[in-house]
Amino acid sequence: MADDESFGKVREKLLRAGKIASDALAFTCSHVKADESLLSIVGGGEDRIHALGGKPAFPINISVNHHAAHYTPSLEDRTQIPELALVKIDLGVHIDGYVADTAKTVLVGEDENLQRLVEAAEAGLQAAIQTARAGIRVWNISKAISTAMRQMKTRPIENLTGHSIEPFNLHAGVSVPAVAHSGERIISPRLNEQMVVAIEPFATYSNNPRVDNLEPGHIFGFARAQNPRSAELRSLFSLMKVKFAQLPFSSRWMVELVERDKITPSLHQLKREGCIHNYPVLGLRDKSPIAQAEHTIIIEKDGCTVTTK
Ligand code: MN
Ligand code: MN
Repeated sequence: MADDESFGKVREKLLRAGKIASDALAFTCSHVKADESLLSIVGGGEDRIHALGGKPAFPINISVNHHAAHYTPSLEDRTQIPELALVKIDLGVHIDGYVADTAKTVLVGEDENLQRLVEAAEAGLQAAIQTARAGIRVWNISKAISTAMRQMKTRPIENLTGHSIEPFNLHAGVSVPAVAHSGERIISPRLNEQMVVAIEPFATYSNNPRVDNLEPGHIFGFARAQNPRSAELRSLFSLMKVKFAQLPFSSRWMVELVERDKITPSLHQLKREGCIHNYPVLGLRDKSPIAQAEHTIIIEKDGCTVTTK
């Protein structure tokens, strides 16, 4: 735990990132409408993050219906929002590596059952926020989320979790599941004051609420290998490490670094050499629709502060 004075500066950056993330999320969601292209929605949202003085902590995820996470359009993507759809927008902003991670689901069209999924994800998130404080076990948060979601006759996705956040590290080690198995309470870690945690329940009606890798996506992360064999790729790779600050990036963002027709072959080769990895699109094989809600919180002695309010 940092002393109060140095944590004051950290807190200030976390809150600034949170405010930008919250504004950019509202802005992005306001463009989610039938027939709108995913590419323009996401591009506009990422531009907004930069215009507000933040940097994206990862490419904006736009996950439609049974997709849960890790879909971001490529430059060639012509997909449009359907007439009736659940659209999850998930975005992250960082200020000097201090990250805010937040998500919201927009219902396009009208449908009571889909609307209930949106409300259930929100209810799970709010129950977690009401429960979070220093000293409590993660298990109690999970229990609060699953209880709130089951009361609304929905099920939490079991293999997607919230997560602790550290500077330049989005998934820092502590996971916050949306399900609480009774035997696991006493082995569940406790939350500490000043911990930063993203809470993100996903609601569905599926009988098998576990997501799978559905297809390769257009989000990439830096992997272990640091030295591509060819000189050309080595210089591209060092530009990428600086430009993307070692955080997840999109194939779209490569246009600033390399000619457009070289993007796909360069990424393939970097992946083959173990320098980067791909985040597959996650979703439900039975095509059941999913809603998600997410906020980033700072754990306090008597509760928590929502940075992305
Ligand atoms: Mn997120
Ligand atoms: Mn998250």
